Amino acid sequence: MTVSPAKSVDTSQIRPEIQQLQSQLVQWRRGFHQRPELAFQEKLTSHFVINKLEEWGIPHQTGIAQTGVAAVIEGGKPGKVLGIRADMDALPIEEENQVPYRSQHEGIMHACGHDGHTAIALGTAYYLWQHRQDIAGTIKIIFQPAEESPGGAKPMIEEGVLKNPDVEAIIGLHLWNNLPLGTIGVKEGPLMAAVELFKCQIQGRGGHGAMPHQTTDAVVVSSQIVNALQTIVSRNVDPTNSAVVTVGELKAGSAMNVIADSAYLSGTVRYFDASLENYIGQRVEDIIAGICQSYGASYDLNYWRIYPPVINDNRVADLVRSVANTIVETPKGVVPECETMGGEDMAFFLEQVPGCYFFLGSANPKLGLNYPHHHPRFDFDETALGMGVEMFVRCVEQLPSLKV
Ligand SMILES: [Zn+2]
Ligand SMILES: [Zn+2]
Repeated sequence: MTVSPAKSVDTSQIRPEIQQLQSQLVQWRRGFHQRPELAFQEKLTSHFVINKLEEWGIPHQTGIAQTGVAAVIEGGKPGKVLGIRADMDALPIEEENQVPYRSQHEGIMHACGHDGHTAIALGTAYYLWQHRQDIAGTIKIIFQPAEESPGGAKPMIEEGVLKNPDVEAIIGLHLWNNLPLGTIGVKEGPLMAAVELFKCQIQGRGGHGAMPHQTTDAVVVSSQIVNALQTIVSRNVDPTNSAVVTVGELKAGSAMNVIADSAYLSGTVRYFDASLENYIGQRVEDIIAGICQSYGASYDLNYWRIYPPVINDNRVADLVRSVANTIVETPKGVVPECETMGGEDMAFFLEQVPGCYFFLGSANPKLGLNYPHHHPRFDFDETALGMGVEMFVRCVEQLPSLKV
């Protein structure tokens, strides 16, 4: 779908105190951007967060799933325990942006916006701490490593990040260049897809390019497999139920006149509906097995699940939506149709406690800030940083109305 951008982005709903924090948010974000770190290596990022929490005197726990941090802000009034989650990791991409805050780590880049997420969470922690006497409830701000893979949410949960105090609801945001600045994507139910991956080695028998009858051609076998895998979505899955099967790699052969001995393919599977959890993987294996058998080839398949789907709770999504409606221009500012087949390990938190993950529009085509996520020129409009803090703070202020 296309979303028409807001005519001009109105930031008047951001309270003056958070507007004053804006230059600080930008500075933090650019600092993280200059020093991006890969999964479970977020040491500089994590140290920066810890130093700030210490400077402000906010109680926190460190070393959760290696580099993860959780800050706990107990409000002056009783209430629920709300988790706010931010991811901190970067990607193995060489940055192509020529900006003063360009990545200084060769081959690593914040190309998904997690630098912004960390800055927003830090700003939120700062604001909430200053106003803790007015908060009804306890807020646990979770700085998570390794979202891009292999996933930091699950090990953080296993190490007890949702316990003591026990988190009763959780929210999180993704800066989103698929939506223009000034819009917020909020949806109940499935938001992001389950992610499964596979790798498959096909073993045939190589030989002379002119004597195919003496061989089992791994190029032909793997080509048949790639085509047949497309029929899982087109012929097996209910057409009203979204799914994706993508073969991302196909490697075989070494010369024009040689029949390939073996082939390698890998890919990813995406879906929202839990009923497809074992179904698609089984179809992938059946198709590979059947084709290999019919051609006399053998195969070695590795198929594994990485993230479950991101499923938002209706009650928490209602709260987030009502808050979003107070921040962006209604009715067009809050975008309900924002689901994507991308994956997110926020899913693991949402499996444990009711919550809502939402998208904060961050694209600004006029400034060239609309490259897609994971692109070497990805960047976003930093105006969204203050909006993110305002969103989280208002959600905290509305916590007493949440019935979970
Ligand atoms: Zn990403
Ligand atoms: Zn991301």
